[in-house]
Amino acid sequence: MTAVPLPMEPATAAVRAESATESSQLGIYKRAPMRFVRGEGVELIDADGNRYLDFVSGIGVNALGYADRGIEDALVVALNTGLIHVSNLYRTDPGEALAAELVRLSFAAKVFFCNSGAEANEGAFKIARKWARNSGRPAKTGIVALRGGFHGRLFASLAATDRPSYRAPFRPLAGGISICERDLAELSAVLDPETVAAVIVEPVQGEGGVRVLDPEFLKALRALTAEREVLLVFDEIQCGLGRTGNLFAYEGVKVIPDMVTLAKPLAGGLPMAAVLMSEEVGASMKPGEHGTTFGGGPLVASVARHVLGRVSSPEFLAAVRANGDIIGNALSSFAVRSQRVRAVRGVGMMWGIDVVEPANDVVRRGWDRGLLTLTAGDHTIRLLPPLVMTPAELKRGLGILTEVIGE
Ligand SMILES: *Cc1c(COP(=O)(O)O)cnc(C)c1O
Repeated sequence: MTAVPLPMEPATAAVRAESATESSQLGIYKRAPMRFVRGEGVELIDADGNRYLDFVSGIGVNALGYADRGIEDALVVALNTGLIHVSNLYRTDPGEALAAELVRLSFAAKVFFCNSGAEANEGAFKIARKWARNSGRPAKTGIVALRGGFHGRLFASLAATDRPSYRAPFRPLAGGISICERDLAELSAVLDPETVAAVIVEPVQGEGGVRVLDPEFLKALRALTAEREVLLVFDEIQCGLGRTGNLFAYEGVKVIPDMVTLAKPLAGGLPMAAVLMSEEVGASMKPGEHGTTFGGGPLVASVARHVLGRVSSPEFLAAVRANGDIIGNALSSFAVRSQRVRAVRGVGMMWGIDVVEPANDVVRRGWDRGLLTLTAGDHTIRLLPPLVMTPAELKRGLGILTEVIGE
């Protein structure tokens, strides 16, 4: 694929107008002042030529970093077929092969493709309700989510998302969806076999502050949901596909869920999501009961096959785990030294650092030093570096980060 030349004159009138707060895009993001024009490896380059080491990965999307040759080759090969889209009325080789590969690598027997994380979770909710309906219990429709969880911004996924500021302006949200404490006694009281179809859980809560749920809690929740005939859905949209050092987070906690949702890194930055499900759950859905125009098209599926091939290799996952040890060791010793850090949490290449000051202030000081980080709540810095980052690059970024947080 030919490289796109850098724009000769970065600050066109349109560029200046937008960065000076005027933009024709809906004002739902407080965007950073930088304007990125190029990506190389694990760095982004802005219109002024400044380089930024990326500990954000487009919010966990760019697991293979920027300008990955394999992604470019997969795109070129796919484009050479002339097929970007044919609709789900027809099969294509890339879609069939990707689904088969996900089944081979996971607990699942069936896969549903769609286009975003929220859409995958809403698909999982519908599939859970259909599965429950087939059990002959007409009131078995409830979906239970956990305190601190994030599952998306659409009406049903928002109803499962525990962030008052995201929810309040949009009430009423979708009904039949409730939030429960991360507590087995409370869950045991709520999970009524007659009225609850599914529980949705992020094994590592991302937006909610990078909380690694206790494997013993997840195992007990698996036992409880099985006993109550309630489906267990793992939202691995952020923590899946290699991020924790296992291909799937459920492998690390030794829990087999009934459904898993995937999205962010799946297609190397192209919009794509998937719902993986067991044979029994999949058997409850019939033609015409769910659908999406774009889901699993040949172009996105071709790129996803490349990404899946990379992130599922044992060597790749071993490198993620080794990187996780580097991050964990560096942050733990820093947390002991620094008065400005309250706690650090994480697994693999997904970490949260609770800081005393507003987390956004730390993120902004990072920009001045050429480092991109993100937040997860008001006082938590979140790190989601590309999984391909080398130990040397990681250590460089962690060095800058500890300086901008300070002792
Ligand atoms: C990002 C995210 C979502 C929502 O994905 P979108 O593609 O933005 O709809 C859902 N769940 C988790 C855990 C996420 O991190």
